[in-house]
Amino acid sequence: MAIESSMLLAMIARSAERIASGEHELCALDAAIGDGDHGTNMKRGAEAVLDKAREISELPAAAALTEIGRMLVMTVGGASGPLYGSFFMAAGAFMEKGARLPEDMAEIFAAGVAAVGARGRSRAGEKTMLDVLVPIQQILRHEAGRPDIAERLRSAARESAELTAPMVATKGRAAYLGPRSVGHVDPGAKSSCMIVEAICDSWEAGL
Ligand code: ADP
Ligand code: MG
Repeated sequence: MAIESSMLLAMIARSAERIASGEHELCALDAAIGDGDHGTNMKRGAEAVLDKAREISELPAAAALTEIGRMLVMTVGGASGPLYGSFFMAAGAFMEKGARLPEDMAEIFAAGVAAVGARGRSRAGEKTMLDVLVPIQQILRHEAGRPDIAERLRSAARESAELTAPMVATKGRAAYLGPRSVGHVDPGAKSSCMIVEAICDSWEAGL
């Protein structure tokens, strides 16, 4: 069964809501190890996608993902805009080759993660959004059949975001702080966590 447009609409709405309500938390995290704009950047992107949510959700899933990515690149700005944008555009491009949602979720998500790593020249362990996205990718790959998969993904996303606190940043603006970045959760890891939580919530609500 393909992802229905009502499900996609719910996922967009819930993610946008979560990001908007987390704006101050994300800005505070970014103020500690960056320039304090991550919440504002993400909220701007989330609102832009939400404005076009109805049109986007009526597109085939591949085109919808590509369009979300394009909009994030255009509106989020900062380092995170092109990175989140690459994630969704690569996921959309991978779907154009014939992958389907939800059954090929692990491979589609992996294509997005690979694009973030390529664009950011980064990998897990460097105190970035990849420290949430990579563990989520692993769970989708190895544990997708679990009946409690949504809860498993949510708790892994939260734990993984927290685990960025003791890391030393070696990518992005936080890398300028070197060891002084230790002790703070990475803002991009936290926004990824929020989006995973929102998508899992809508997935469960739609079952
Ligand atoms: P900026 O740093 O330009 O102000 P944001 O504050 O919106 O942009 O985003 C910062 C987040 O982007 C970081 O917390 C981190 O998760 C993510 N990030 C930055 N550089 C990279 C990179 N090279 N690879 C992966 N993620 C990155
Ligand atoms: Mg910033």
